[in-house]
Amino acid sequence: MNDFLEQRKKRLEEFKKTVRKKEVTYKPIDIPEGLFIKCEQCGAAIYEKTLQIGHYICPFCDFHFRMNATSRIELIADEGSFENLFDDIESLNPLGIESYENKINIGKALSKLNEAFLCGTSKIVGIKVAIGALDSTFMMGSMGSAVGEKVTRLIEYATKHKLPLVIFSASGGARMQEGIYSLMQMAKTSAALVKHDAEKLLYISVLTNPTTGGVAASFASLGDIMIAEKSSLIGFAGARVIKQTIRQELPDGFQTDAFQLSHGQVDMIVHRSDMRKTLYNLLKLHQKDGHDDEK
Ligand SMILES: [Zn+2]
Repeated sequence: MNDFLEQRKKRLEEFKKTVRKKEVTYKPIDIPEGLFIKCEQCGAAIYEKTLQIGHYICPFCDFHFRMNATSRIELIADEGSFENLFDDIESLNPLGIESYENKINIGKALSKLNEAFLCGTSKIVGIKVAIGALDSTFMMGSMGSAVGEKVTRLIEYATKHKLPLVIFSASGGARMQEGIYSLMQMAKTSAALVKHDAEKLLYISVLTNPTTGGVAASFASLGDIMIAEKSSLIGFAGARVIKQTIRQELPDGFQTDAFQLSHGQVDMIVHRSDMRKTLYNLLKLHQKDGHDDEK
């Protein structure tokens, strides 16, 4: 009996030395920061590269992550067809707000753009369009005087060259550091759209997550066709502010894409992977007879 116990003890020691030791020497994998991104909707940790390949759509719950302006245009436009316009327009600090320049520099570094709006011309399956996209990584895609000027010039360019216009919005609204100069852009961009409309040209406005404030209250809401990208929050003021002001409970799903569709603010909700095809179909449908954009 004692022998048996002795042997068992030895074996246990052996086990501790070999098997357990291996576990102790196991080094945890060093995961660099930012390699995994947590989904806002379902909470799943997604490998960043997977997200990138899948056009920033959650593979588990289909949630659409925010997309920067450059990736957005790359996804929509025919390869190599994008020509950047008005890239030299940059923000000044008209009200002398402290730290504003610093914020602009951070925005430039994060977005790799000169301003929060990237625009130019491109082709969508062969159809030439004037195209622009706000970039939420640049000061939350807010509209200061430089963004407003770029949007206006793009609309005027489309009017002059008789081009349909496609603008992707993603914005927190007017840029507060520019006060009244920001708010003036709402009227300026809207006025330019009236002239584009007078020429019977098509404007498709695509609202992405989030489209709020002064952008939602101006050019983003003036599309002939209003598209909401899936998973988008669309509204003017934040839900909390509205609730405090009117002192009433807000309906379920307030300011979601589905809410805006059911209330007539948008004409359709489009999945990101169908966006290029949908835009092409709409552009094709509204082309004038005999008009050949390839020439
Ligand atoms: Zn998810």
